[in-house]
Amino acid sequence: MIQPFDDRDGEIWIDGAFVPWRDAKLHVLTHALHYGSGVFEGERMYNGAIFKLTEHTERLFYSARTLGFEIPYSIAEIDDVCKEVCERNNIVDGYIRPFAWRGSEMMAVSAQAAKIHVAVAAWTWPSYFSPELREKGISLMTASYKRPAPDTAPVHAKAAGLYMICTISKHQAEAKGFTDALFLDHRGYVSEGTGANIFFLMEDGKIHTPKPDCFLDGITRRTVIDLAKKRDLEVVERYILPDEMAAAKEVFFTGTAAEVTPIGRIDDMTFKVGDVTRLLWQDYEKVVGKVPASQSAA
Ligand code: PMP
Repeated sequence: MIQPFDDRDGEIWIDGAFVPWRDAKLHVLTHALHYGSGVFEGERMYNGAIFKLTEHTERLFYSARTLGFEIPYSIAEIDDVCKEVCERNNIVDGYIRPFAWRGSEMMAVSAQAAKIHVAVAAWTWPSYFSPELREKGISLMTASYKRPAPDTAPVHAKAAGLYMICTISKHQAEAKGFTDALFLDHRGYVSEGTGANIFFLMEDGKIHTPKPDCFLDGITRRTVIDLAKKRDLEVVERYILPDEMAAAKEVFFTGTAAEVTPIGRIDDMTFKVGDVTRLLWQDYEKVVGKVPASQSAA
């Protein structure tokens, strides 16, 4: 059983101070809880180093600004807090969750005077999808909700409110026996998962991935595109229609939590866990420092 997230040992940093884990509480009349005015990050520490920490912190600040508020610290300060949170909780391999939100000074749509709060928590968490599932490839069900247009929601922010359709869709997929959900976008093109970006190895030997113009251009996505290019694999960013997916030779997800995860099934289409996916999976584990370079295949 999962240890509940409000009942753990350790310390969480909130608004400039460390508090015991179980005391890190909010008032029920918190703006973010009612109106979705929260932003967050998900980061991984591998062997004592947080992968692309500053890029994540910069995205947190970008997300906050997109929602119309400024985080009252510097990027360097939040970077240091992330490292200190890991240190104080004895984390060497784990997940870091920085977040910022509007407080309880105002409880209406307008919240100009609400205080901006910031917190960072971290926990040991080795794998998002189980190793057995990853070996055979996870399964996805196309969601009935669509990723909204950029003029409908702040689609490039990692904002709490955007995850409403992710939880609904993931629950619906799980109820049907799938691991996760896959979103089409507002135009009907393939977009992303509930917490990861998607790639297809197509018959032309090139890796195709949706253009991130209405969803998160993941830090892992960009890392894996660079890794593929280093392997002389061509990456094509374009609009992909759902009908094209059946012709894919391999399909995989990328994300901070998902890392590189093979996809074995989408709706009634099945895919093999192939060599290109395994190669990029290995390259990714090497670049994040999960596998020491000396122990991994070339
Ligand atoms: N899309 C969504 C909706 C996500 O939540 C995530 C995870 N942050 C990603 C894509 C992948 O982004 P990243 O590689 O930066 O973790």
